[in-house]
Amino acid sequence: MTAHESPHQELHARHRAVLPDWLALYYDRPLELTHGEGRHVQDAEGNRYLDFFGGILTTMTAHALPEVGKAVSEQAGRILHTSTLYLNRPMVELAERIAALSGIPDARVFFTTSGTEANDTALLLATAYRGSRQVLAMRNSYHGRSFSTVALTGNRSWSPTSLSPFQTLYAHGGVRTRGPFAHLDDAAFTAACVADLEDLLGQTRGDVAALIAEPVQGVGGFTSPPDGLYAAFREVLQRHGILWISDEVQTGWGRTGDHFWGWQAHDTAGPPDIVTFAKGIGNGMSVGGVIARAEVMNSLDAGSISTFGGSPVTMAAAGANLAYLLEHDLQGNARRVGGLLLERLRSAAAGLGVVREVRGRGLMIGVELVLPGTDDPSPRAASLVLEAARRDGVLVGKGGGHATASVLRIAPPLSLTVAEAEHGADVLGRALRTAETELG
Ligand code: PLP
Repeated sequence: MTAHESPHQELHARHRAVLPDWLALYYDRPLELTHGEGRHVQDAEGNRYLDFFGGILTTMTAHALPEVGKAVSEQAGRILHTSTLYLNRPMVELAERIAALSGIPDARVFFTTSGTEANDTALLLATAYRGSRQVLAMRNSYHGRSFSTVALTGNRSWSPTSLSPFQTLYAHGGVRTRGPFAHLDDAAFTAACVADLEDLLGQTRGDVAALIAEPVQGVGGFTSPPDGLYAAFREVLQRHGILWISDEVQTGWGRTGDHFWGWQAHDTAGPPDIVTFAKGIGNGMSVGGVIARAEVMNSLDAGSISTFGGSPVTMAAAGANLAYLLEHDLQGNARRVGGLLLERLRSAAAGLGVVREVRGRGLMIGVELVLPGTDDPSPRAASLVLEAARRDGVLVGKGGGHATASVLRIAPPLSLTVAEAEHGADVLGRALRTAETELG
């Protein structure tokens, strides 16, 4: 550290010197968060913030939840890690609870350490089960950062390679308010997407393994299709024997308020063939996984393990976190407080040219920003809002399917209170007005 450098500047310089350039950091002066409690976090300089992004949708219930901390320390006091070669009680218990909650008959659960690895496993299962390398994904989708999952990502901004182990076909439907069908009403939009899907499938030799889709696109800017689109898709997929993988990494566990899983908004005749999850279930511990009916899960004809997937200490954390979520009806809280937050943000944005749309479900709310007076996505507006909100003590995320992010992503811990929602919405309203003035 030089005489003129603060500890914060020094850490930032060391970060730059040793970590990859493509590892994105928020804010002109990146934050170092050192403490968390409830819905709040604190930085190394003692500033306190309302965390409207829940880590990165990873703090599902609350920061420093005592129940999770206790489960972790008790398990760590016994044994941190064993191996998938031995029986693991916390893993079996969590798998039983998740299988029961999944809605998938005869469900099997395989634990991973991330969403990427969960989707990778889902693709392995689907391609093995179907004996095909063709996969359907949605435009503007994001499914992870590995070689297999970037090959599905329906947006160049998040796909650093054009090489692919699959032949990927991209369907319309994930984004309701942009693209060629945006002007149609919901029923016509769905019909157009289904016709497009049939057309895509007509161009294949009929051996597509699976469709992978996020019920609400996360990194893509919290966009969702009309309810029912995936029911209509499923009917087509089933005719062709194609599996449906619902990527619930962002949407699972009641985040969307009305439903425990995002796919349930679509009133499908049955559950997806495969569900993947990660992010919030571990409340910050690295827990991901795949749920599939036994016939699909057991289609691999070679042994496979994840050394750290299902590690007892992470299972204990996830088990305690899930128990808290269910006991305190945080899905219901997400619906009630999320509904109020959506309305409050809509009023705060009313009349502002910088806001194109405020949308969302439960505690998964997107504010799409444009250059005032145009329909052009404005990553700069999003950065201005992030900086202004941070100055005012609120942290939000950004995303969106354009070269850089132009949608504010609001996804606080699901225990958010009404007072916190109102305060956060007021701060964001001020930040939006600041961006509007600066851009105007
Ligand atoms: N799937 C979705 C929908 C995601 O949003 C993400 C991460 O943002 C992933 C998969 C990848 O998860 P991870 O970063 O845990 O590998």
